[in-house]
Amino acid sequence: MSIAEFRNYIDGSFAEATATFDSIDPSTGATWATMPAASSDDVDRAVEAAHRSLRSGPWAAMTATARGKLLVRLGDLVVANADRLADLETRDTGKIIRETRAQIAYVGDYYRYYGGLADKHEGSFVPIDKADMEVTIRPEPIGVVAAVVPWNSQLFLSAVKLGPALAAGCTVVLKASEDGPAPLLAFAELVHEAGFPAGTVNILAGFGHDCGHRLTSHPLVARVAFTGGPATARQIVRNTADNLAYTTLELGGKSPVVVFADADLDSAANAVVAGIFAATGQSCVAGSRLLVERSVKDEFLARLKHKAEAIRIGDPRDPATEMGPLATSRQREWIEKVVAASLAAGGRLVTGGERPAGHAGGLYYAPTIIDANDNTGLPCVREELFGPVLSVIAFDAEAEALALANDTPFGLASGVFTTNLAKAHRMARGIHAGVVWINTYRAVSPLVPFGGYGQSGLGREGGLDAIRDYTRSKSVWIRISDDPFPDPFVMR
Ligand code: NAD
Repeated sequence: MSIAEFRNYIDGSFAEATATFDSIDPSTGATWATMPAASSDDVDRAVEAAHRSLRSGPWAAMTATARGKLLVRLGDLVVANADRLADLETRDTGKIIRETRAQIAYVGDYYRYYGGLADKHEGSFVPIDKADMEVTIRPEPIGVVAAVVPWNSQLFLSAVKLGPALAAGCTVVLKASEDGPAPLLAFAELVHEAGFPAGTVNILAGFGHDCGHRLTSHPLVARVAFTGGPATARQIVRNTADNLAYTTLELGGKSPVVVFADADLDSAANAVVAGIFAATGQSCVAGSRLLVERSVKDEFLARLKHKAEAIRIGDPRDPATEMGPLATSRQREWIEKVVAASLAAGGRLVTGGERPAGHAGGLYYAPTIIDANDNTGLPCVREELFGPVLSVIAFDAEAEALALANDTPFGLASGVFTTNLAKAHRMARGIHAGVVWINTYRAVSPLVPFGGYGQSGLGREGGLDAIRDYTRSKSVWIRISDDPFPDPFVMR
C-alpha cells in the first residue's frame, strides 16, 4: 500500500516538512500516511506571515463584506469536498463515515454563517457626556489567532474558531492535532482555492510540547482559541503568561443525562445511546453519567443493554457501521485502566468492558455500561474517559437528581428526559452546564453558543457573540469645538 504524504500550509504555500511522523489507520493499526511535524521555526514563519497579512497587504485592506464573501466561498468548497474530507477524517481517526460525511457537510454552514455575519458586526456612537466631544467605538480585529484543536472533529472544531476570527478580520495559525491531522491539512487546499491572501490562514500539524508551545506563547499572537483536555489547557494558560494572549478554552466533560420515570423511555434510551456510543464516546459532550429514576432503573437498563449489544461495530468506512475504533492506543489503555479500577471498587458490569472479538489490530472497545451501585466516587463516575463507557446512578427524587447532575467539577453539557414541562424547566435552571438538552441530545448549530462551566472551559464558541471575542474595541475621541484646548493640567 502506498503511503500518503501531507504538507503544512504556511504563507500561502505548501511547505516541505523538515521532520515527519507516521499516522496510523485506527481500524487496522497500519501506517497509512506521513505527516509534517512543524518545528518551532515553522511556527515562527507561520505566525510572522499571519502578522504581515494582518498589518498590510490585501487582507488588511479588505472590507468586511469582501471577507464575508471569501468565507461563504470557503463554506461552499467544504460542502463540495465533504466526501473527500470525510474519507480522510475517517481514515485518520476511525470516526465512522456516516457521521464524518454529515458533520463535514454541515461545517460548510458554519463558514457561511460567519461569512454572512462579517459585515453585520457594527461599532457604535456614544452619546458622550461632554458637549464638545464625539466618540465612536470601532471593533477591530484582535490580532493573530493561534487556534489549537484536538483530534476528534478537527474540521468542525476549527470552523468555530476560523469562522468568527476571519469574519472579524483576524489572521490565523491553526495547529492540527498530531493524531489524525489529515482532514485539516487537506482543508488547507480549500482555503487556498477560496482565495484568502497568503498568510491569512496557515495550517500546521505538529506536537504539543514544541509546535503547540511555541505557537501559544509566541509574542506576535494576541488570541488563543483552544479545544482539548483540561491538563493541556493548564499548560496553555502557562504558555500565554509570555504573550498575555486573550484565551478561550473548550475542554472536556462528565455530562449527566437525567432520565425521569415519566419520560418516553424508548426515546430516552436512543438519546442515551447517541450521547455515549456515537463517535465511540470520543465526544466532549458525551453523556457519560446516566442518572435514572430508581423506579424505572431496571427496565431502562434492560433497554439500554439491548441497544448497546445490537450496535454494529466494524470498519468505519462502511456506511452500515455504527461504532468504529478508538483513535489512539493511548485512549484505549486509559479506558481499560479506569474500567478495571471501577469494577474492582464495586461497579457492576452490565455489558461490554472488553475488546470486541474479530477486530484484531484495530483499536476497538465494546460499548460498555457500568452500574455504579450508588457509589458516586467510582473512577468511571468521576473521570472523563473519552470512550464508550456509560456509568449509571439511580436517584429517588428530583432534588437528588439535580445534586447528582452537579456533582462534578465539569459543566459542559447535560440532558434531561421528562414529559413534565415544569420539571424540565426547573432542571434546566438548576444544572451547572453550558448546554442543557431537553428530550434530545448531541444537537449543535452555528447559531447557538457552546461552551462550559467550571473545568469545562472559558468562553463560548458559535452564535453571534463569537465574533466579538475576536475583536477589541478602539474608542475614537473627536473634539468638535473651535475653542482653544482648555486647562492642560486638569483631566477632562
Ligand atoms: P489534548 O489536550 O491532548 O490535545 C489538544 C491539542 O493541544 C492538540 O493539538 C495537542 O497537540 C495540543 N497540545 C498538547 N500539549 C500542548 C502544549 N503544551 N502547548 C500547546 N498545545 C498543546 O486533547 P486530545 O486528547 O487531543 O482531545 C481530547 C480532549 O479534548 C478531551 O478532554 C475532550 O473532552 C476535549 N474536547 C473538548 C471539546 C469542546 O468543544 N469542549 C471538543 C472536543 C474535544
